[in-house]
Amino acid sequence: MADKMTSLHEIESVCTSCAEGCGFYTQVEQGKVTNLDYMKEHPVNKGGLCLKGNRALDTIYHPNRIYSPLERKEDGTFEAVSWDQAITTIASHVKRIAKKHGPDALAFLTAAHCTNEEYYVFQKCARLLGTNNIDCSSFHEGNGTGRALAYSLGNAAITNPFSDLANAQCIFITGSNFLDNHPVVSHWIFEAKAKGATVICADHRRPSSLVFCDRFLQIQPGTQAPLIDGMMMHIIEKKLHNEHFIGERTSGFEAFQKELGKQSLKVSEKLTGIPVAQIKEVAELYATAPAAALIQAVDFSPLYGNHTATALNCANLALLCGHLGRPGTGVFPLAQSSNSQGSYDMGISPQTLPGNVPLKDQAQHTGIAKLWKTRDLPKKEGLSLPAMTRATKNRRIKALYLMESNPLEHWMHADHVKKLLKGTEFVVVQDCFLTETAKHADIILPALSWAEKTGTYTSGERRVQWQSRIVSPQEHTIPGWQVICSIAQKLGFKNQFSFSSPEAILKEISRLIPDYAGLSPARVKKIGGITYPCPTPKHPGTPILYAEQFTTPDGRGKFIPAVYEKKGENPTKKYPFRLTFGKSVTSPGTSAGEETSILVEMNAKDAKTIPVQHGGEVKIDTKRGSVKATVSITENVLPEVVFIPYLATRDLASPRNTVDPRAIMPELNTAVCQIKKSGGK
Ligand code: SF4
Repeated sequence: MADKMTSLHEIESVCTSCAEGCGFYTQVEQGKVTNLDYMKEHPVNKGGLCLKGNRALDTIYHPNRIYSPLERKEDGTFEAVSWDQAITTIASHVKRIAKKHGPDALAFLTAAHCTNEEYYVFQKCARLLGTNNIDCSSFHEGNGTGRALAYSLGNAAITNPFSDLANAQCIFITGSNFLDNHPVVSHWIFEAKAKGATVICADHRRPSSLVFCDRFLQIQPGTQAPLIDGMMMHIIEKKLHNEHFIGERTSGFEAFQKELGKQSLKVSEKLTGIPVAQIKEVAELYATAPAAALIQAVDFSPLYGNHTATALNCANLALLCGHLGRPGTGVFPLAQSSNSQGSYDMGISPQTLPGNVPLKDQAQHTGIAKLWKTRDLPKKEGLSLPAMTRATKNRRIKALYLMESNPLEHWMHADHVKKLLKGTEFVVVQDCFLTETAKHADIILPALSWAEKTGTYTSGERRVQWQSRIVSPQEHTIPGWQVICSIAQKLGFKNQFSFSSPEAILKEISRLIPDYAGLSPARVKKIGGITYPCPTPKHPGTPILYAEQFTTPDGRGKFIPAVYEKKGENPTKKYPFRLTFGKSVTSPGTSAGEETSILVEMNAKDAKTIPVQHGGEVKIDTKRGSVKATVSITENVLPEVVFIPYLATRDLASPRNTVDPRAIMPELNTAVCQIKKSGGK
């Protein structure tokens, strides 16, 4: 469409750089993208765009794009091949491996920035082949923070829209560097502040969000759960809990209260480092506010495990005070990647089918099999990314298909991924660029940039929006959904993959996922799309969940005691500092072992003991390796705690490669380190 244009057009676009789902206009002239324009009428960003959003056009004409399928030759180099050859080769290897070793020798991996339609056909192909070995690498980079909410509330999703933060009278933020990582929707918090809301932040590192904080609790790393335990003990003690809500809408309160009674505020103080009086004060602020919201993320603490404990306690606190199902309330688990929510909804998970259907649910399992015109679907839980990497020991995975996933550069356990890629007989990578992961592939398929794709994205607030094609795909490139359908057809699933367009795939998604049932292409193409659950074609969507009942089996919000475990290494004489990780705008990530100087934040007291000055060079050693860094002396971090961007040091992070079973995120534990001056200052 775009390449035939002769005059300036403005095409409605969705920013796919993060999970907020902002809208903007892309200006196209004679088939070429020329500029972007602000979309003031968009319900999320009201015309605002952050730095990343403003640079959304940068990738479209990137000179390093791959435009042709590539096949590895015997000498290890790649040669360009036709699509037909590439697809035939992939199908024949997949067929051969599945026949010889069984379907569980196949594994499928993607990341959280594809369209829902791409995810849908990808997982459908894996399951029709007979395996649930399918995962999203982004979930293991901190995008699964809200998963555990499904156990308490029913949906693994945010409860209220971002704009509703403006209606909160108290906002409690933990684990989120909100202002840096969600700059556009921060304006809803400023709006709440202007109306008199109290904002509380609890983190081990001082966030930039301090500008709107009324209270800041600098907790010991990873102790959100005991902090909230302390708050809940005080709320119950002072009878500030919402007895009516608990009685009418929840289950499990008595057992929960009994468990909580085994602890004490003194223990919370000891674990978090926050005085009891301060814990009590913030507890009262949250509980007595007419409407209070909880924001939870893993911007600063993706590495300390306890994801489930933190998420469950956020739900417990909201249930205790009845801060759910109304404007200004809710729990906001924040993901980073643009289509984290959609990938989960579409069944990119070794544990659930599309629509978050557990593999054990026989009735729904049978229904999906029927719609997909197959006798049965695999019931055995598949392998998550960490489990795939562990399976390298006995070489269980023989073929691996990565759709726009680059775990070698983005996942914390790069060494484990390398072993997986090297130990797998046949690797396919579909990507726009020759990434580090792609260099290990046998076949590389070019992927489209966001501006060449069409399909839907589900933002972090469950808003399903249509991305129109802005420019025509480059010659020799094919949309991702079409590539998967062609491979699946070659594998014998002709009828199941006869889709003619992303719209046709969305129609099947709507038939299969009840929450997406009312989402026709025409409806989601309107600016702002529709927020699911949207069960019927005329339903307006559901911005606020749980107004009347929860989506748990009995319709009640479930109190689940959160079990906090102190994990990771303890400081020793040799390794006196605790190395903490996270996202920071000041320090770009870089690969471990590259000897590139990165920024390490350190308290002034610690800098004196080394001794090193601001801007000085240091070498950080953990039990697993070392990295060089430039010192930034700051009160952002507590004494004996240092902070560094996690991608820079991912191999130093943790000796373990396990997954928190409910959050389905890596349990990477606190590492300890020694720091020595390595430069002049
Ligand atoms: S906040 Fe996210 S969605 Fe919005 S403009 Fe920035 S990167 Fe894009």
